[in-house]
Amino acid sequence: MASPIPLPFSLPQFANYPMEDLALIERAFRFAEEAHGGQMRASGEPYLTHPAAAAETLAKLNLDAHTIAAALLHDVIDDTPVTIEEIEKEFGSEIAFLVNGVTKLGKLKYRGVERQVENLRKMFLAMAEDIRVVLIKLADRLHNMKTLSALPEHKRKRIALETMEIYAPLAGRLGIGDMKGQLEDLAFPYAYPDEYRWLMHEVQEQYRERQEYAERVKPVFEDYLRQDGIAPLDVHARAKHHWTLYQKLLKKDMDITKIHDLVALRVVVPEIQDCYAALGATHKHWRPLPGRIKDYIALPKPSGYQSIHTTVFCLEGKITEIQIRTPLMHEHAEHGIAAHWAWSEAGKPRSIDLGGRRDTKLAWVKQLREWQKEVRGTDDFLESLRIDFFRDRIFVFTPKGEVMDLPEGATPVDFAYHVHSAIGDQASGARVDGKYVALDTALQNGQVVEIITQRNRKASQRWLEFVKTNVARGHIRRSLRVQGIEVRAPAAKEKKITADLSLAVEDRIGLLRDISNVLTEHNVNIRSLTGEASDPPKPTVITAVIDLEDNRQLREIIPKLKAIPNVIDVHYKILQE
Ligand code: MN
Repeated sequence: MASPIPLPFSLPQFANYPMEDLALIERAFRFAEEAHGGQMRASGEPYLTHPAAAAETLAKLNLDAHTIAAALLHDVIDDTPVTIEEIEKEFGSEIAFLVNGVTKLGKLKYRGVERQVENLRKMFLAMAEDIRVVLIKLADRLHNMKTLSALPEHKRKRIALETMEIYAPLAGRLGIGDMKGQLEDLAFPYAYPDEYRWLMHEVQEQYRERQEYAERVKPVFEDYLRQDGIAPLDVHARAKHHWTLYQKLLKKDMDITKIHDLVALRVVVPEIQDCYAALGATHKHWRPLPGRIKDYIALPKPSGYQSIHTTVFCLEGKITEIQIRTPLMHEHAEHGIAAHWAWSEAGKPRSIDLGGRRDTKLAWVKQLREWQKEVRGTDDFLESLRIDFFRDRIFVFTPKGEVMDLPEGATPVDFAYHVHSAIGDQASGARVDGKYVALDTALQNGQVVEIITQRNRKASQRWLEFVKTNVARGHIRRSLRVQGIEVRAPAAKEKKITADLSLAVEDRIGLLRDISNVLTEHNVNIRSLTGEASDPPKPTVITAVIDLEDNRQLREIIPKLKAIPNVIDVHYKILQE
């Protein structure tokens, strides 16, 4: 059968891949082509265009051949009769693991519940186990967004909002600025149509004008640089993304004249010293606006972003932002963690030997850590992810695809009580991924858990021996009391350490209550809890003196406190042990 779609590796982004990689990619391509057969997309295109587009995106990020093969195969499990066992047999365990990971993430349902958004993002990363699964999922979503207009309207809105809330922030947090901007701009018209129309009406003309202007400045600028002995590798006009422009306008009274970087000029020069030389050359000809020179090379943004920005009275006196950076800085700004992941010193894509599935989790945490070190700043999100989500949390699904966040070792009984106290009380059995299991089975990440209930069932005292959550324990005790069964509360554990907590917060009604709830939920003895208001912009500080059983308990509490809305930062000091 003649393929209407060109082999992906005929594209320039595949030029760096060695022959054996290309052979693997071609094999995956042929396999997907065969599996998807005559399937069509809603857009009317052959289905294969979709995985091929995802593969191209990842090749642009220079990811390894396994990832690209997995991207080509990412929809065969859900949409064709092919099984994961067949993938494993044909392509080995690593590619099967990646495909399976993407398939599992596809089951995640976004319901626009505010409270679930952050959970969903974290769960996404925790469940993925491997950063490459997230990257494939992002590439998958990018192409789905590009073809969104083919879907019915109610679906478009939901998918666009999900992209805004889950996918774009994830791309941002992984430093893939290029993809974040694309996802947001593709989602913007569907997620917020009125705002989008307003923006386009206001700025489309300005965009065009500034773009033309930037083209006029380019040769003049290049000339100035060369006069000073700087050889620019690339000078291009960078139009601000629509969504980020809209966000900025919200902060600037919707006044477009206050935006100086609608279209910025970006110059890439070989070395760091060239960046400063280029800054000098720029200021020699165009007077800078005072207070607008930003040296993100000396002081990178928390995301690791590096560049020099200056705003000048440019050609014809027009106020223009100029950004100066090296190729490495450019690569990192656009590709973030993917840049770090994909390139070896030789600058060739490499495949990553993870030595089997069990190590992937660790490998990717390690990778995150290295990346964090590299970007210097500490991203709170990644930090909390590492502490909170790789040690002791698991995420499981309800049969409807909702996410439950439970501690490691949690059982179907814990799960049942988290769904609803009545479900817990009446639990008589459980099915995990379709198979019957005992009620004390430890649940694993990503499993789908279904509780079988019987109307007249009641909580059993035996459950107290294995449940892992306080929620379940509390409900079981209550139910036993109702049944007239006396439960001896276990002797309270001795409180061994005293700690002084200090929380920087933006005060709001109910904040103190939320904080004390977290502390009491963890069975912590609160000696004092006081707030001291201060004038903005200084944050209010809340201090608490608490008694705890051990350090581990303290480590559990800190990320929970940090996750409370309006809590900016939490510090602690151990007073006595
Ligand atoms: Mn897909």
